[in-house]
Amino acid sequence: MTIINRICVELRDILAVRLQCKNCQSAISYLPKDWKPTALRCPNCDAIMIEPSELRALELLAEGLRTLMPADDAAEKKLRFEVRLEFEQR
Ligand SMILES: [Zn+2]
Repeated sequence: MTIINRICVELRDILAVRLQCKNCQSAISYLPKDWKPTALRCPNCDAIMIEPSELRALELLAEGLRTLMPADDAAEKKLRFEVRLEFEQR
């Protein structure tokens, strides 16, 4: 039997953006409102954590979170943004 769990996450539920080094698994967390992606090396092993080709996409994601998170709390909000997470449990 497989059980599928579904969780809907609203923007206000996102408490941190966490970047994890693929090389040593160390992680750095940022508040979404303060997160400004830059070229980043792991503080533990010095591996490159954000490739230059990924940087622009992460900048857009960070800008989107900073723009949409306050709008998500506004009483007159017109957009409801949710991320639905699904995972199987065996
Ligand atoms: Zn590392």
